[in-house]
Amino acid sequence: MNLLAVYERLQGHFKIKDCWWPHETTFEIMVGALLTQNTAWGNVEKAIKNLKTEGLLNIKSLSKINRKKLEEAIRPSGFYKQKAGYLSAFSKHLYTKYKGDLNAFFNRDTHIIRRELLLYKGVGKETADSMLLYAGNKLIFVIDAYTKRMCFRLELTELGDYDKLQLFFQDNLRNDLFLYKQFHALIVELGKNFCKSNPLCGKCPLKRKCKQQGISEKLKKRESREL
Ligand code: SF4
Repeated sequence: MNLLAVYERLQGHFKIKDCWWPHETTFEIMVGALLTQNTAWGNVEKAIKNLKTEGLLNIKSLSKINRKKLEEAIRPSGFYKQKAGYLSAFSKHLYTKYKGDLNAFFNRDTHIIRRELLLYKGVGKETADSMLLYAGNKLIFVIDAYTKRMCFRLELTELGDYDKLQLFFQDNLRNDLFLYKQFHALIVELGKNFCKSNPLCGKCPLKRKCKQQGISEKLKKRESREL
């Protein structure tokens, strides 16, 4: 099964519309990408709601905010002390170096921005690429745990590290920002609804093409070793 066929089946099932990543501003996407690590999206929504209620969801406010106040606001997102440190340093950098102007930040070569993002504490490849794709509208594919699991179970490609999987998607998809955004969103929906660690194959839109159709204990062990 090729990647585009997987995309079409998933899109036919989930029918996701544009703007899958909920946001009112570009900065909100970046904050969400930082806060979503190691927690469910529902908890991020609560933290973002707190920031909005306090009028803090902007670069200037977050760059100047008292740390305790920030910790309290983002507490629902978990690891809140650590994340408050990341968010505060990240916002300060955007405010001092780019005067809080995200157009200036994103209006550069993708690889230069990515290298810079990866220097921030708390920003790994998945977070950086989520910011680049959804906030910066840069053509870069996001790899997450759901993507790795889907590739493994569908035997789409040999398993590799983050960079290899990213190249696999980028080499096999046309250069289309909408496609990149939608496909990642669809993989997340697949992972949340069907292809969980204990998969619900019966109603999965990919079941006809999936060799696993349920996961044996042997495969589970391999999966926990390799993913
Ligand atoms: S059929 Fe099962 S293992 Fe295959 S992709 Fe769907 S949920 Fe995952």
